[in-house]
Amino acid sequence: MLSEFELIDRYFNRPLQPGGRIALGIGDDCALLAPSPGMQLAISTDMLVEGRHFFPDVDVASLGHKSLAVNLSDLAAMGAKPLAFTLALSLPSADEAWLAAFSGGLFALADQSGCALVGGDTTQGPLNICITVFGEVPLAQALRRSAARAGDDIWVSGALGDARLALAGHRNELTLDELSMQQAEPRLLRPAPRVSLGIALRGIAHAAIDVSDGLCGDLGHIMEQSGIGATVDVDAVPAGPALQRQPADRRRKFSLAGGDDYELCFTAPASARNEVQAAARAAATPVTRIGVMDSTPGLRLQDASGRPLTLDLHSFDHFTS
Ligand code: ADP
Ligand code: MG
Repeated sequence: MLSEFELIDRYFNRPLQPGGRIALGIGDDCALLAPSPGMQLAISTDMLVEGRHFFPDVDVASLGHKSLAVNLSDLAAMGAKPLAFTLALSLPSADEAWLAAFSGGLFALADQSGCALVGGDTTQGPLNICITVFGEVPLAQALRRSAARAGDDIWVSGALGDARLALAGHRNELTLDELSMQQAEPRLLRPAPRVSLGIALRGIAHAAIDVSDGLCGDLGHIMEQSGIGATVDVDAVPAGPALQRQPADRRRKFSLAGGDDYELCFTAPASARNEVQAAARAAATPVTRIGVMDSTPGLRLQDASGRPLTLDLHSFDHFTS
């Protein structure tokens, strides 16, 4: 049986890149970070609980990926560049096959994102994974939820709703064909945080949020914190490739309120459309304009011809659903 310290050493302690922003990593009482001059630290925590955020039989390497991905997505939504993360793990047992798969998935994304594991805590208990990420963003350039202005365009990256479709397949709410599952499942299991896009949008976008609980609910946070409303063209919202083949009603519901998309929703002045498109090209991430922020409070949904729609939507809330 592995001791706690052997476990950390074998699966989580790795040499750091010399000359980086990490002055001290795993092994002491604290890690030490050295953010670049003129930068603010951006910090965010997300917890993943078995049975709530993932199925007990989930692919373990994907779980390692997703645990970090959902945290990097928060940095992306602030326009912050990833620096480091900590990992608090509660594990039922020191299962080496599990640890190898989990740390493999975790470090593949960490390396790809330039984000080093610098510390954490390990304890025996029910499976629970809590990651805190640290990023940096130039002073006064963070993309805050409160910064949207009336007249701003509303944009989303990528496509929405395929993660929710895959969840419906897993829960047997729907029977999906093989192609649909092949297209949709990676969106649920291995979301790609939009870090490059968030950074490219610094100084261009006003407000941003990552779409984790469903577009309407998350856009609602921008509306609330900015003190304004929004009108969204429901048919302009890009649905994922598998969801596109579903009936219109489901397509709308899952793309507007599905959850687990980890795309960015952001606002920018209409005068910055070319700059937004250039940032999207630089980040190799497609973006779509889906509506406008306006001074009338509340969210208005309309179809392509401008006709108002009333849809029964609620975004995902852990205490009500
Ligand atoms: P302390 O008791 O001082 O908090 P620990 O004995 O818990 O320290 O941890 C020893 C070192 O290992 C610390 O640097 C801590 O950050 C690191 N560590 C513990 N668990 C993990 C983990 N799951 N991943 C990465 N580092 C970890
Ligand atoms: Mg400790």
